[in-house]
Amino acid sequence: MKRKLNKKGKITLAILLIIISSISVMFIYADNNDEKHILESTERYDLKIDYPSIKNKKIKEKIKAYIDEQKEEFMNVVKKSENIEISSKYDFNLNVTSNERDGITYVNMLTYSYTGGAHYIRDDKSIYYNNETKEFIDLKYFFKDEESFKQMTNLAYYYVMNLENKDNLDTLWVKRGTAPTIDNYRHFKFTDNGLEIMFPPYQVASWADGEINITIPYEDINKYLKEPYQDKTKDETVAKEVPNIRDLKQFKDKKLIAFTFDDGPSTSNTNYLLDNLDKYNARVTFFVLGSRVKNNKEVLKRAYLQGNDIGSHTYNHRNLNLLSDEAVIDEIKRTNDEIKNIIGISPTLLRPPYGNLTNRVKDLADMHIILWNIDPLDWKYKDKNRVANEIIEHAHDGAIVLVHDIYKSSVDGALLAMEELEKQGYAFVTISEMAELRGIDLDYQTSYFSMKK
Ligand code: ZN
Repeated sequence: MKRKLNKKGKITLAILLIIISSISVMFIYADNNDEKHILESTERYDLKIDYPSIKNKKIKEKIKAYIDEQKEEFMNVVKKSENIEISSKYDFNLNVTSNERDGITYVNMLTYSYTGGAHYIRDDKSIYYNNETKEFIDLKYFFKDEESFKQMTNLAYYYVMNLENKDNLDTLWVKRGTAPTIDNYRHFKFTDNGLEIMFPPYQVASWADGEINITIPYEDINKYLKEPYQDKTKDETVAKEVPNIRDLKQFKDKKLIAFTFDDGPSTSNTNYLLDNLDKYNARVTFFVLGSRVKNNKEVLKRAYLQGNDIGSHTYNHRNLNLLSDEAVIDEIKRTNDEIKNIIGISPTLLRPPYGNLTNRVKDLADMHIILWNIDPLDWKYKDKNRVANEIIEHAHDGAIVLVHDIYKSSVDGALLAMEELEKQGYAFVTISEMAELRGIDLDYQTSYFSMKK
């Protein structure tokens, strides 16, 4: 026979549970003299601080320093506004959480403060402490070397770009926010699934997009991690392939040229170009036709993984100005879908066929419009020396060169030009590399013919 509690019994049990749980809470609190909850409420502001009990003195000091700093900043604003009428109460909320894994203590601190304006201000800080060596560490600590760390950041870029229901992220913004600097990776934790990275609002996307969280699975990063932090149970054969991102510091004092190749991809000629780019430490930009992607997908993928930019040249190479709104959108969307199927991300650069576009087309496209300012008419003359000479003659810092990788003579001409221009102190970069180096935030209104200093 099942024994059932009557109503009275249930109430008694509930009360008992509450007493037991509050005793245990009180006990935990009594375990340590630290304050865990600070609450202040006045007519003008609310302040709330929560933090866990941590025994380690060094960590405790760091937490205290952070709390003091944040609180002081807030109280200063409160004081300054003493005589101002405020429409809503100021608010301060600081929360500290902590956990441990593989001998590392993780502390995450998050402050939300409201002192007028459109929204809360957010501040994040994380601390990592190796309990064994008794030192503070950062994400680089977990990786074998600098190069391994860099490879991880490529994966981070890939995973941000492939987040579900975030398909309009700006590649340049994401590239900057995931670039291989330790500052970009201040918030992370290792879990059973892999390396979790949190990018606070504004780092890789807008405030409205909120914080961006990704997990890089162990199968992708095992080979880069130091032995104790790997998870060998994860299958490395399913690891992702991600493009190489170059260290742009090497180009800082160079004159820059962006070679762009339209109307491809072409399995034979594009491969031939890719075979030769390393000779000149060159990366280039491809504006591919959606209609050609399916039949040349291997070379497109190779171009992407090598670190070249992949942009759209529309599906059928029609004059967009003459098409209906629906047809323009179709030309663009179909191409972006084809490209995404092969390389995993949707392009954000567009070169309209013939360089033709009106404001109507621009609005419909909603991509960064890249035109050119050096045009050797390679398709017309099909003469490698003529192509090379035209490019060399007009070369200047920030130039964008238009050629076509469906002709071998064009590829040869571009390579010949690179050989000469390298001697003249030029470096050959992609459009997004050039924008990054020039500090240009590509917008959706400008047509970029060049990127001069
Ligand atoms: Zn074209």
